[in-house]
Amino acid sequence: MAEIVIKNVRKEFGDFVAVRESSFTIEDGEFFMLLGPSGCGKTTTLRMIAGLELPTSGEIYLDGEEIGQRPPSERDIAFVFQMFALYPHMNVYKNLSYPLVSQGMPRAQVRAKVDEVATILGIKDILKKPVGGLSGGDRQRVALGRAIVREPKAFMMDEPLGALDAEFREHMAEELRALHDRMGATTVYVTHDQLEAMQMGDKIVVMNNAVVEQFGKPQDIYDMPATMFVADFIGSPSMNFLNFNGKIANGEGLVTLADQTMSVPTLREGAAGDLVFGVRPEHIHLSDNGAYRGKVLATEYLGTTQIITLDTPNGEVKARIASDQPATVGETVGLGFNSKTITLFDKATGHALR
Ligand code: ATP
Repeated sequence: MAEIVIKNVRKEFGDFVAVRESSFTIEDGEFFMLLGPSGCGKTTTLRMIAGLELPTSGEIYLDGEEIGQRPPSERDIAFVFQMFALYPHMNVYKNLSYPLVSQGMPRAQVRAKVDEVATILGIKDILKKPVGGLSGGDRQRVALGRAIVREPKAFMMDEPLGALDAEFREHMAEELRALHDRMGATTVYVTHDQLEAMQMGDKIVVMNNAVVEQFGKPQDIYDMPATMFVADFIGSPSMNFLNFNGKIANGEGLVTLADQTMSVPTLREGAAGDLVFGVRPEHIHLSDNGAYRGKVLATEYLGTTQIITLDTPNGEVKARIASDQPATVGETVGLGFNSKTITLFDKATGHALR
């Protein structure tokens, strides 16, 4: 069991606040992503869970026990720093057994444990090889094996695939996720790559400027972004933001774009004034009789779909439509939106109105 609860955690470095009152729960066995742009505080959060930094205030619970101020050695959490950090002069077996031998585990037990982990990782046939001559993938498996042999309660990984090229990265991401599914150990994984987070994570925390913007399942975050930052950061191309002046009353937002008024369902009452209409590119379609029109500025062919960039009365908009739909640069086309897929935001706060 390893459930991790972060409660009102704050971290200051001198005058600088790296993490502001953050709260979220990582359930037992989850593959949990800490996502955000560079400098937002995700590594600091990960290091606080592992005990490499201590929170300035707030609490961290591991299986119900408060561990926030304890040293790393008393937490039973493995921090996978860099997948390639191996002992170069030792063979694979020695690299894997080292953490156990240094704990004083009897030899026979060490052998059995290394054998088990090597089987899980599919590296039994290379145990006698020096790590120096291994392929990138095998080195990575060995590095992971060294974290696994100790059987920690949870794994902390800081951009473990960051140094790899795109193709290999995708392959290792799949392998890492499959390994997690076989072992079921709680894993917290830092990345700035939204696609990686969406593909690999059971849940995601999105951070920005030391603040947790949203926390939830990938699909919920994608479909129901809590803030304009999250809506913009997740998804490619990003969500379109159209400014308008409107009001929300009686459970609907009345949106007037150009001369077309539409009703968008929302639960938030009373907002009025400068609002933002958020629509993802794939939720815009061509509509011959659409009163809202845009001029096609560019088209980008992507196989089954194409991205078209349009000049509209509210500025530039991107739409993802089927490749076989005609869209010619220079032409003016009518556009349609499905009101259920729209998110309205308060322009001043950037918060979703729902
Ligand atoms: P990156 O992906 O660039 O590592 P991050 O989201 O992981 O970004 P952190 O490493 O958590 O960000 O850093 C958050 C902020 O805290 C940064 O501005 C960083 O410079 C600052 N910071 C981190 N560690 C320290 C420290 N020991 N002393 C002072 N400032 C620090």
